[in-house]
Amino acid sequence: MAKLTVRDLDVRGKRVFLRVDYNVPLEEKDGKMVITDATRIVETLPTLKLLIEKGGKLILAAHLGRPKGRRDATLSLQPVAVKLSGLLGKPVTFVDDCIGEKVAQAVAAMKDGDVLLLENVRYYNEEEKNDPAFAEKLARVADVYVNDAFGAAHRAHASTEGVARVVARRGGQCAAGLLMERELKFLGDELENPARPFVVILGGAKVSDKIKVIDRLLEKANTILIGGAMAYTFKLAHGEKIGKSLVEPDHKQTALDAEAKAKKLGVKFELPVDVVVATPVDTGKLNKKGKPVFDFTNVRTVNGNIPDDAEGFGVGEKTAAHYAEIIKGAKTILWNGPLGMFEDARFAASTNIVAQAVADATRQGAKSIIGGGDSVKALKKAGLGDRVTFMSTGGGASLEFLEGAVLPGVAALTDK
Ligand code: ADP
Ligand code: MG
Repeated sequence: MAKLTVRDLDVRGKRVFLRVDYNVPLEEKDGKMVITDATRIVETLPTLKLLIEKGGKLILAAHLGRPKGRRDATLSLQPVAVKLSGLLGKPVTFVDDCIGEKVAQAVAAMKDGDVLLLENVRYYNEEEKNDPAFAEKLARVADVYVNDAFGAAHRAHASTEGVARVVARRGGQCAAGLLMERELKFLGDELENPARPFVVILGGAKVSDKIKVIDRLLEKANTILIGGAMAYTFKLAHGEKIGKSLVEPDHKQTALDAEAKAKKLGVKFELPVDVVVATPVDTGKLNKKGKPVFDFTNVRTVNGNIPDDAEGFGVGEKTAAHYAEIIKGAKTILWNGPLGMFEDARFAASTNIVAQAVADATRQGAKSIIGGGDSVKALKKAGLGDRVTFMSTGGGASLEFLEGAVLPGVAALTDK
């Protein structure tokens, strides 16, 4: 069902409670917390500017990190207010609480088009519990509710769901921000009736993480390309050797069922024909988390069985080239999950080849949609972030949405 968006709202003179995703990375420098990447703040500017132009009073709410229901000065949103003010070119009032008298007073003093940022909503345990009384307290300063935090929409928390319910009960409107609108369009509407051929690339670590997505996309895709460590579970299910590779033996049947379903539906289901492997050697050292550190030696490509001493780290060049050909013929592409352990340059080649193919297909007119936190990272690392149609900001939320789940933060918005 289509949801109301900020474009549909008349907010002049109204108090707009706007949930944003300002969960930015911070670093301590000379005793002060400094934002190391302001992308998430920059991305909200179009929604903010539109609502300012429309004459709303903007009350921004967000979470930062995991303060676990306590005030934690290192997780204050105060530096975000400073940064946002600079980016917007106008003052942003910061209130060091998200509920209570201080907030009510600051909001009462606002004029149309003013912007105010509340302190971290997770300073209260009630936020993640979606406590109804807490949601009422947040809603005290809300005539209208807008959610632009797609990345938090899979959680039913007070600021993502509860407060919207309160506003709606009072007859107020609840709308998607522009960022949220784009996520719903590309991960939702565009994949309902995709231009064909529709090619889905699925990689990443585990079959169990992605099986619901595979299952749902089997109903829609023409071709599914499998990569990443999840390919080893398929290999194992076929009776092949996978050496020391990451694998889920309990999910062999899951893998076989997916293949059978693909066959039944006439979906082409492609598995890697070659694998880049290496021999892990224990260095005897421990990392920060106390886990043993391995050196990966003797990097090589194998066809078929993976030797007992070796571990797979991605699809080989033959597979990558074959996948690239298929991708170049696509009209719609959905990519979720890297094809190998791209974080290590020795295993990034296949992911980069596929990323390039996605960019080439996009240039030829295909729509390319990238969901999943690590896939977006991989694409940016390959320098192709601006060469695709859409990159989701969602991470876990985009995965759940692709599975066909109803996200509580979306469900709470007003239907058109
Ligand atoms: P996304 O965040 O895009 O949904 P995932 O979280 O499912 O993707 O998977 C990403 C992770 O999978 C990456 O950290 C990558 O290193 C890892 N990975 C991919 N292929 C392999 C492999 N063959 N062996 C080990 N790890 C892999
Ligand atoms: Mg991930």
